[in-house]
Amino acid sequence: MKVSAYHSSNPSDPDVYHDHSDCPSGQQIPARNRVPGEGGYRRCVHCTSMG
Ligand SMILES: [Zn+2]
Repeated sequence: MKVSAYHSSNPSDPDVYHDHSDCPSGQQIPARNRVPGEGGYRRCVHCTSMG
């Protein structure tokens, strides 16, 4: 489902943000690395395709 924007604080992760809780890419971000907001990044392609 659609959620507030979030991204990863890990520099080795792609510079994108997510806004779907069921995004396969976003789900790989561990809770400790998950940061609220867009982080100045572009939207993840998976999240974009999910609307
Ligand atoms: Zn995503």
